[in-house]
Amino acid sequence: MRILVTGGAGFIGSHLCDRLLSEGHTVIAMDNLITGSTDNIAHLAGNRRFLFVEHDVTNYIYVEGHVDAVLHFASPASPVDYLNYPIQTLKVGALGTHKALGLAKAKNARFLLASTSEVYGDPLIHPQPEEYWGNVNPVGPRGVYDEAKRFAEAMTMAYHRYHGLETRIVRIFNTYGPRMRINDGRVVPNFIFQALHGQPLTIYGQGEQTRSFCYVSDLVEGALRLLNSDENDPTNIGNPTEMTILEFATLVNEITGNAGGIVFKPLPEDDPKQRKPDISKARALLDWEPTVALREGLVATIADYRRRLKLD
Ligand code: UDP
Repeated sequence: MRILVTGGAGFIGSHLCDRLLSEGHTVIAMDNLITGSTDNIAHLAGNRRFLFVEHDVTNYIYVEGHVDAVLHFASPASPVDYLNYPIQTLKVGALGTHKALGLAKAKNARFLLASTSEVYGDPLIHPQPEEYWGNVNPVGPRGVYDEAKRFAEAMTMAYHRYHGLETRIVRIFNTYGPRMRINDGRVVPNFIFQALHGQPLTIYGQGEQTRSFCYVSDLVEGALRLLNSDENDPTNIGNPTEMTILEFATLVNEITGNAGGIVFKPLPEDDPKQRKPDISKARALLDWEPTVALREGLVATIADYRRRLKLD
């Protein structure tokens, strides 16, 4: 197949490109590089089945020739990034999704939207099943991302219902792994960077809030199984192993042997108190579940950070 990956130079996007190329597909990666980086795809230079196009997908997307699938993964995805780029975040979720859907329709291609657990906001139901409509503050600092992705889901369903487009929606829960931008501000890069420099890990609030971390190869596997299924409604892909941020910090300090300890910082506004995917649907429909344990995934991620930080 010939596949367009928007956000193809990003963290998840670049892993998707690798996986698709390894399966023999031809991949066009598109990215405006505001949070993505060509470092993530530098190893693909010279691959004749790979093409990188620097383009902001909030503008008209032109692709020559046939396209079999459009995987729309372009967006800032870290709370720090979407606070720095609030309007770009809203635009890529809204206008970018519209352009990507328009291209899929013109090419009669299958469409996959990268959505997010943020559509559930600060959830009042735990764990979160797909049927839950969420608890989102539209005008809070995270609203730019949450509402953009909620709009993107609505737009995707409209193209499916009105135009009969073959669409898929994956709701991605906290994903981590090699290539996550070191300064993207999320908890995994922050803690690993701090631990590798002997610094205290910055815990926001009391660290009682929970997250459930999924290794990137598990996420990619789940997303592609969904793409190849015939399910149009949103599907959660994430790892249901839940822990508090304090427990997570303790684990990072233990694995890295960091003696820097922890330090408490103010909790950002609207920070979700708990998050854990209900993956019953993905299990039943896609026969999918995560296979990489957190410790194993962290060891691989830390090794990648050591390389990039030139600590080896
Ligand atoms: N967090 C933290 N220290 C950091 C960065 C994040 O305690 O240095 C917390 C953050 O407040 C949140 C959780 O870790 O409760 C996960 O944050 P992240 O930015 O990774 O993404 P989120 O899941 O909130 O979208």
